[in-house]
Amino acid sequence: MKILIIGNGIAGQTVAEEIRKNNSDYEINIITKEPYLYYSRIFLPSYLIGEKSLDKLILHSIEWYKNRNISVELNKQIDQIDRVNKKLHVLEDDNWINYDKLVIASGSNARILHFGNPNLKGVFSLRNVADADTIRNYINKNNVKDVLVIGGGLLGIEIGFNLRDLQLNVTICEIAPYLLPRQLDRGTSKLLQKYLESKNLEILCDVAVEKILGDKRVTGIKLKNGMERKFDMIIQQMGIIPEISLAQKSDIQAEKGIIVNEYMQTNDPDIYAVGDCIQFNGRIWGIIPASREQSKLAAKHILKLNPEKYQGTFWNTRLKIAGINLTCLGSPEEEDKEETKLIESVDEEKFLCRKVRIEDNQIKSAILLGPGKDNFFVKNLGKEVDFDEVKKKVYE
Ligand SMILES: Cc1cc2nc3c(=O)[nH]c(=O)nc-3n(C[C@H](O)[C@H](O)[C@H](O)COP(=O)(O)OP(=O)(O)OC[C@H]3O[C@@H](n4cnc5c(N)ncnc54)[C@H](O)[C@@H]3O)c2cc1C
Repeated sequence: MKILIIGNGIAGQTVAEEIRKNNSDYEINIITKEPYLYYSRIFLPSYLIGEKSLDKLILHSIEWYKNRNISVELNKQIDQIDRVNKKLHVLEDDNWINYDKLVIASGSNARILHFGNPNLKGVFSLRNVADADTIRNYINKNNVKDVLVIGGGLLGIEIGFNLRDLQLNVTICEIAPYLLPRQLDRGTSKLLQKYLESKNLEILCDVAVEKILGDKRVTGIKLKNGMERKFDMIIQQMGIIPEISLAQKSDIQAEKGIIVNEYMQTNDPDIYAVGDCIQFNGRIWGIIPASREQSKLAAKHILKLNPEKYQGTFWNTRLKIAGINLTCLGSPEEEDKEETKLIESVDEEKFLCRKVRIEDNQIKSAILLGPGKDNFFVKNLGKEVDFDEVKKKVYE
């Protein structure tokens, strides 16, 4: 059996690893258009500011692949799938390689808007090592002082926070009324904003960018409320767009993402899709825990090991900036039911906040801001829990 995997991010990597753990015979080939072996995107904001080197980002050496008899080809882009003859076309070599089972783990791209001025220099987003290198070069060569990050999600905040270390003036703007609207309630968000402002980040919420200004290079922005501001560089972190172009060309069903069933199969049962590129039950994820869960499940299904059906992954995200811990579990924006119980403990002076929602005796969501540990809540998310024990942990 020959398994081909497109993409060497956490999703493609996990499928290969999980198949090999249970089977030593299958041929496993990973093909990726990136020039590096598997690296963690989590560390890109630290790499951007020179805090981490490239070799610290790369998590597996070539020996890791050799020891597992997994072949990996870098700098190779797949641009066509011939589903009838079960083969893939490699753009760079102009050759075809065949497969028995194909796994598409093509990830996602940053969502970019042109704001009326598509060809300006100085507008970026951070998705891979090459982006980080380009942004760093631009900062160094263009005397950049004032930076705007568009998008007050986790990534926008992390990038903005890190860029301060390069002695830049950083503003983060968010179209929603408060930061992290998908993860936080307004109260906790305002507390986080206070913390970020105390660290010299300027935060503008409830503002929409209308136009990016400049002739050849960015010189500033105009907001929908008419206000103009000067900026030397703009970083857009406004979410992701799953990479579905290959699927679309090959009549594999896709909408926002590549549509998969509860075993991660596309409409072609020999083609699976996992990670940021997928859509399941109308939703896309874009977080590592989802990629891992989906990839393990797909590997089991390929191995005919009877996996449980996928039901979606609980949100589990952390903000990784110095001086404050923030873990967000589940979806706090879901409507409360009659039986929903909220346990909360807030100390604004200490930037401390723990809010846990319990429904049907299960932890539905948790916001944990401050120095306390989050293991208990991560472990028990979506599981049946003892109310008094949760209460004890919230007030601990
Ligand atoms: C800066 C940054 C920080 C992040 N921090 C966190 C975090 O703290 N926690 C968290 O949960 N998530 C985080 N994420 C999100 C997380 O990295 C993604 O959810 C994860 O990388 C998805 O993995 P993936 O394997 O599906 O896709 P990707 O990691 O995007 O990998 C897909 C790979 O496929 C390759 N590819 C695509 N098309 C082709 C083709 N046609 N031919 C060959 N190769 C192809 C791409 O080049 C890419 O290398 C972060 C993301 C970024 C960008």
